Amino acid sequence: MSSSSYDTIVIGAGIAGTAAAYYLNKLGQKVLVIDKSGIASGGSGAAGAFVSPKIGVNSPLKDLTDDAFAFAYSFYSDHFPDHYHATGIVRIPKTATDAAKIPYYSQFHKTKNEILDPKQLSKLHINSIYEGTLFNEAGACDTVPLCKALLEGIDFKLLEAKNIDFADGKWHVEGFDAKNLVLATGFENDLFDVKYMGIKGTWGNRADFGSSLPLEITLHESLSISANMGGVIKLGATHELEVKEPKPCDESKAMELKNNASRLIDTSDFKLIKTYCGMRSGSRDFAPVVGKVIDVANMLNYPNILNGRKYPIKYIDNLFILNGLGARGFVLGPYLANELASYMVNGAEIDSRVNPDRLFWNWIRKIKY
Ligand SMILES: Cc1cc2nc3c(=O)[nH]c(=O)nc-3n(C[C@H](O)[C@H](O)[C@H](O)COP(=O)(O)OP(=O)(O)OC[C@H]3O[C@@H](n4cnc5c(N)ncnc54)[C@H](O)[C@@H]3O)c2cc1C
Repeated sequence: MSSSSYDTIVIGAGIAGTAAAYYLNKLGQKVLVIDKSGIASGGSGAAGAFVSPKIGVNSPLKDLTDDAFAFAYSFYSDHFPDHYHATGIVRIPKTATDAAKIPYYSQFHKTKNEILDPKQLSKLHINSIYEGTLFNEAGACDTVPLCKALLEGIDFKLLEAKNIDFADGKWHVEGFDAKNLVLATGFENDLFDVKYMGIKGTWGNRADFGSSLPLEITLHESLSISANMGGVIKLGATHELEVKEPKPCDESKAMELKNNASRLIDTSDFKLIKTYCGMRSGSRDFAPVVGKVIDVANMLNYPNILNGRKYPIKYIDNLFILNGLGARGFVLGPYLANELASYMVNGAEIDSRVNPDRLFWNWIRKIKY
């Protein structure tokens, strides 16, 4: 294989792309990752990267998140312990109504947990009139070092993918070629027609503050407040649905987060170190999209497909996607990257909860081309 030829090119070096490259490489593939702005430069670099299970009644997304949480916890602790802080995360209800649901929700937890009462929380420097649920294995990742570590031994180029062709059974991308192409581009999705997946960005700001508060565990209420890690407490994050295009990070949002945090902890010595911002990318039904990409142009040639007639699905050869990780990229990323790599290399069946085909028929019934 020549130096510009690969088994797979991955576009995007966020947690999705770097984890996919990691698993493909582990399965013996020669992989190239390209990113136009650097490793973990998109939503992944902005993230607080808290990793916790989901609270609530059983649903396909909760099941998926909990499976992915168990997977991510083992993955980070076994392989990247320097970049994962298992601080424990205590989930605190926002309202009395939420608090009343805690005993009911406990039957759906798949992860070890314990209830902390307000007195115990107060000893941990957390003010709450409600009980909280502590998940000891939950914690937070160091985003950029983790994504860099995932790419150890894997080729990376700082490049924007603009010119993509498929010729002679290979994908050609900016002077490199490969049998397979993986799209892990987050909220930006104009390289191929994937409108049926309905991927959109949700803008967010978060911030790091310097503090001497001896906060030992992370808490999550209407915002996340990390444990004090070396004099730094991370606060996150806003969900700004009105922001449609990336823009500079907003310090006033960091101060709003600090004000909000002051209900729960003592923020009197907090000094702003840095504000981070970025887009989370979510699919139309908020579940991830992992697998093959449908050849939409080709499907539209079928007679009466717009009137609801169904046909066998045609895919674009050797084109794959890993996206729609929403606000939980660091929880879902390793599990889904492993799914995708096993599917691509060993033909293992993809988890039906994330197969993007689910979104196609519903979409095509509503479109006007
Ligand atoms: C403020 C904020 C807080 C968050 N907090 C958490 C949290 O606590 N826990 C958690 O698990 N998740 C959190 N998230 C969500 C998490 O960051 C996302 O789920 C994650 O970023 C998704 O990763 P990704 O790799 O799909 O996308 P991204 O990280 O956005 O990566 C996509 C990459 O593709 C590159 N790219 C796009 N187009 C091209 C092209 N044509 N050529 C080359 N490169 C291209 C971009 O430069 C980018 O680096 C947060 C997100 C934000 C914004």
